[in-house]
Amino acid sequence: MNAPLNIKMPSEASVAPKGYKLLIGGKHVDARDGRTLERRSPGHGFVVSRYAQAGEAEVEAAMLAAHKAFESGPWPRMKAAERAALLLKTANLIDSRLEDIARLEALESGKPIAQARGEIAGAADIWRYSAALARTLSGESYANLGDAMLGVVLREPVGVVSIITPWNFPFLIVSQKLPFALAAGCTAVVKPSEMTSASTLLLGDLLMEAGLPDGGVNILAGLGADVGAPMVSHPLAEMVSFTGSTRVGKMTMAAAANSLKKVSMELGGKNGQIVFPDADLEAAADAAVFGGFFNAGECCNAGSRLIVHEAIANDFLEAVKSLTAKVTVGDPLDDRTKVGAMISPDHLGKVTAYVGAASSEGAKLATGGVKLASSAGDYLAPTIVSGVREDMAIAREEVFGPVLSVLTFETIERALHIANNTPYGLSAGVWSADIDTCMSVARGVRSGTVWVNTFMEGYPELPFGGYKQSGLGRELGRRAVEDYTEEKTIQFHRGPRTGWWAS
Ligand code: NAD
Repeated sequence: MNAPLNIKMPSEASVAPKGYKLLIGGKHVDARDGRTLERRSPGHGFVVSRYAQAGEAEVEAAMLAAHKAFESGPWPRMKAAERAALLLKTANLIDSRLEDIARLEALESGKPIAQARGEIAGAADIWRYSAALARTLSGESYANLGDAMLGVVLREPVGVVSIITPWNFPFLIVSQKLPFALAAGCTAVVKPSEMTSASTLLLGDLLMEAGLPDGGVNILAGLGADVGAPMVSHPLAEMVSFTGSTRVGKMTMAAAANSLKKVSMELGGKNGQIVFPDADLEAAADAAVFGGFFNAGECCNAGSRLIVHEAIANDFLEAVKSLTAKVTVGDPLDDRTKVGAMISPDHLGKVTAYVGAASSEGAKLATGGVKLASSAGDYLAPTIVSGVREDMAIAREEVFGPVLSVLTFETIERALHIANNTPYGLSAGVWSADIDTCMSVARGVRSGTVWVNTFMEGYPELPFGGYKQSGLGRELGRRAVEDYTEEKTIQFHRGPRTGWWAS
């Protein structure tokens, strides 16, 4: 029996929930019908936020505001240097509010505050990077088309972008999209997850403070069906940038196809870390624990499958178990916490159902698997399931909780087969001291990112996205702004061209 978790109530618990309005056309507004959404802190159980709840009327107003800002406002027309200055100012404002934003994230999502701080600092860095890209965005020119012809390819902003984000890294994910859309000269309507909208609504305030023209960014809290769906089908939206589950991503893409909108999709993952006997096994075990349990495993990049060579499987499992026993689970607001609360009781139930199904199919619960005793919130012990077979749901589907499935292999071919045997292709890790082994895995894995002797690091300079059903397109990297542009080809002829059909 686990000892009850000692969750201290934060000072916010004794006051009324903080209220948030929607941001439409540069104004903070309530929903026309007065509806609101409440968010309960999953780590503490009290109501932490109350947002105005948008519906179709607000989607319409936000789209009109974004369209007006794009068609006749200053944002798409200003010099790149001016847009870059605003993006940099926003980065500095994010830094100055880092602690407030991190606290909101910890309270609304249940993630540990120390990890939330890292997320916000990383997001500020992305805003800074986008400013550099704003100034280097360029097209092409062709002077090799004959003496009378000059070909010029412009990169113009695509228009109004609908941005839809999930609950697991709310501030980071909006920061992987919005600054690049803005850098290109686009305007946007943004919908964060209904469970974690506060930090994105706060970002709207920072953008207004930085001097973004009215309507440049509009932010709507609300449900997927009421707000997300009409944002995708709206005729004034030219592009949809979506991060979330593969299930909703497919629906979104199908809806966007009706009006042939550009789409960018960042979806689920079922990532494996492959460990060979010649690896630095101490480092690999540490990375296995980090990869499996960071953000309580509620992470598209989670290393949820540990694919270990049979020769070391037993010892390696013991090493991973003993490190797992040291992972501090508990209060998201405690600096020492490594694994916080799960996003919701429903989600916790879904995660434990995967563990239960695997156990009944013959897998072994090596540790964890139980809800931890707390009246304040929803906590799950870091869980390791060994003896997992490739055909089990826990090995193929995204569990999205602190659950590590252990599979074993004898040959590199088998390791690659296991790693690739899922509908997903987001990321993978390989641990070995042998360059040829690392190269074979890096080339053989069908995923958008492969980490070699490291795991889950991210840099704004490096593109991120998925193969297969993990997504479509890439975020970050030096082409990130180009995604939010259209190419326009212009042909300049020296003097009017003559001699068509009349001659
Ligand atoms: P979700 O798909 O349930 O929701 C994502 C967003 O879509 C939310 O804002 C939701 O309100 C909205 N939505 C729901 N129905 C909609 C509809 N019909 N039309 C338009 N929008 C709709 O995902 P989630 O549970 O919030 O997040 C977890 C998922 O996100 C996981 O699958 C995870 O792997 C994925 N994710 C992927 C990445 C990545 O970069 N690849 C990053 C983070 C999370």
